[in-house]
Amino acid sequence: MGCKRLFDKTDELLIFGKGFNYSQDGPGNRLVYHLKGCNLHCPWCSNPEGLQSSNDEKGVPVTDIINEVISCSPMFFDGGGVTFTGGEILCQARAVKSILVELKKRGIHTAVETNASLPSFLDIMPYTDFLIADYKHPDAEILKKTTGASLTAVTENLRSRALSGKPMLVRTLLVHGFNDSCEDLNRLLDFFVMLKSLGNKEYPKFELLRYHEYGKDKWIKAGLSYKVKNGFISDEKYLEIVKQFKQKGITIINT
Ligand code: SF4
Repeated sequence: MGCKRLFDKTDELLIFGKGFNYSQDGPGNRLVYHLKGCNLHCPWCSNPEGLQSSNDEKGVPVTDIINEVISCSPMFFDGGGVTFTGGEILCQARAVKSILVELKKRGIHTAVETNASLPSFLDIMPYTDFLIADYKHPDAEILKKTTGASLTAVTENLRSRALSGKPMLVRTLLVHGFNDSCEDLNRLLDFFVMLKSLGNKEYPKFELLRYHEYGKDKWIKAGLSYKVKNGFISDEKYLEIVKQFKQKGITIINT
């Protein structure tokens, strides 16, 4: 699935939010931009207002973003920098790439968060110091049906980043009834073990997030139907999953 109907220009970036955040979107203190538009349709998405976009909208000139990041660089303490997240950053890959290229020339630390489901992933990686990537489900059919993503595309992209040895955090949101069966968890663990075997001592790292309903009110306010029912994972179950992963050599971190 591509992003043909979504905003995608070379010289403008369409954003729906920005602000500073410490450590959750990459290391240190970071200026975080939320890009509008996404090629997927996860029913639990916490930013439904950021999913739709069109080329009729007015973006921010790429040069303005670059200048803004440079002017904020004194704030990038503790190894911080800039992070681009979404929506889905790969839907605006051309503008994102040109920004990352310029910021790397100036020695600014760059991070992106992505669903890793589009081919433009590979264009961005050389200029991405820290990658945060979703891995939503280990079954191709369920992943496609629920989110629209191709498991092959995601898997190949994550494999290539792991092989590069560059910093990568793989995040999975655990949703009861979607990916928390024994079979799903075993396949997820197998995938993490495989990715780890391709990387180095430090990377990739892994995080298991738990379902929340941060986006529910936004869906309802926007007149959209929120379809997830009882997606919560109990404390006991979460701790048990973390323990089982640890026994197979996968340490789960919390950012
Ligand atoms: S990939 Fe992320 S931004 Fe896109 S629909 Fe899924 S959760 Fe929302």
